[in-house]
Amino acid sequence: MQRRRAEFEHDRSGDSPTEFETSTNKFEAVCGMCGGKMFVDHALKARLESAREQGLEDNPLVCGRCEADMNEAAAEA
Ligand SMILES: [Zn+2]
Repeated sequence: MQRRRAEFEHDRSGDSPTEFETSTNKFEAVCGMCGGKMFVDHALKARLESAREQGLEDNPLVCGRCEADMNEAAAEA
C-alpha cells in the first residue's frame, strides 16, 4: 500500500486541478483540506477514484487556496 501511495503522489505531480471548469478539467472533485469544489481532468479523477477503492481515505487533492495557505504557514514556521 505504501508503494502504491508513492506512485499515486508521483503520478499526480503533472496534473493541475483548477477551481473552475476548463476544457480538460471537466470533473468535479473536492479539496481534501477545505472541502471546496474544484475540477480535475479525467485521468486525475480516475486516480482519485481508484485510490478511494483501495481504501485510501484521505483525499490528497489540495486546492490552490489551501496550497497557498500551506506555503504561507511553511514560510512562517
Ligand atoms: Zn482547499
